Amino acid sequence: MAVFSDPAFDNHERVVFCHDEPTGLFAIIAIHSTALGPAAGGCRLWNYVDDVAALNDVLRLSRGMSYKNAMAGLKFGGGKAVIMKTSEFSGSDALYKRFGAFVDTLGGAYITAEDVGMTMDIMQTISRSTRFVTGLPPDSGKAGGDPSPKTAFGVFCGIEAAARAKLGRDDLKGLRVAVQGAGHVGYYLCKLLHGAGASLLVSDIDAARVERICDEFDASPAALDEILFADVDVVAPCALGAIFDEESIPEIRASIIAGGANNQLRSDADGQRLTDAGILYAPDYVINGGGIINVACEHFGDVDDDGVMELVAKIGPRLAGIFEEAAATGEPTNMIADRQARTIIADAA
Ligand code: NAD
Repeated sequence: MAVFSDPAFDNHERVVFCHDEPTGLFAIIAIHSTALGPAAGGCRLWNYVDDVAALNDVLRLSRGMSYKNAMAGLKFGGGKAVIMKTSEFSGSDALYKRFGAFVDTLGGAYITAEDVGMTMDIMQTISRSTRFVTGLPPDSGKAGGDPSPKTAFGVFCGIEAAARAKLGRDDLKGLRVAVQGAGHVGYYLCKLLHGAGASLLVSDIDAARVERICDEFDASPAALDEILFADVDVVAPCALGAIFDEESIPEIRASIIAGGANNQLRSDADGQRLTDAGILYAPDYVINGGGIINVACEHFGDVDDDGVMELVAKIGPRLAGIFEEAAATGEPTNMIADRQARTIIADAA
């Protein structure tokens, strides 16, 4: 398996392979950059087809975290971890404690948190073997806990900004939104959108999650292979990445893509394809920065929960600036965001 020549390798500072035979732990921690501060980013638990897929994912995700943290104005570099759900995976507390011990060996260069497949309970287990973990239950009023409600709030603010820029709308009443993924972020996003009067389509490989959202927020279920191509105003991807490419983009009927999933574009060139198709794309790592803002406030302990919401709300104006520049120059939004993020990191380095 190649590391330095993996297409997703981007001058990462460190890639750490972690294995523990008794618990069946196979994990990879990637530190992309510590120019702005300790590398922070969640840990994903996923059933990868092979090691190469896991490595590629963690390399892409950790670079995304560098850009996300830079664009959110945080004193964090970018890192990420993946735990592979192999046939040997035990899912035991011992496995998560071993993972925490590996995180601890990095001495704070990497700070972990929840991502897909993880929970606050697991973060607590990890905290038994390292202090470099966030997403723990907060004391009353303090920042911390499950970051996904804050991620969803940032995505909601981003959808408002996109609807204003693309559709000239000042509210979301009657806006038709297709949400792919009814997990943590998808659930809280649907709650906010329903509260704002949007009408919702939702899909998930887990039917019970879809049913819950349909019951609570008056949403309609959509087929897994149809949600991205539904006749709606906004597609909000809140599942996994690499979903927009030369095959899927021509089929999209929405005029806005704005959701919480990481790495939504299969390649950078897909940003140009979306622009050419007249679709306004909210760069994923800008719109989904709410969770990491929550993590930063928990880690540095400098802002309470209300302060977190104020910081997350700034995602709306931040995206509006990118949308304005894209409208003025014709440049794809992902390229504008990448350039801004790289400038922030280079200035710090
Ligand atoms: P989650 O595991 O709670 O939810 C993900 C959901 O997607 C699951 O219900 C899963 O069944 C579903 N799913 C997977 N493949 C699917 C498919 N093909 N079609 C439909 N549904 C599918 O994870 P989450 O925390 O809600 O994160 C969702 C996305 O947002 C991920 O890409 C994650 O990296 C990103 N993200 C999450 C946070 C956060 O605060 N949790 C922050 C930033 C970015």
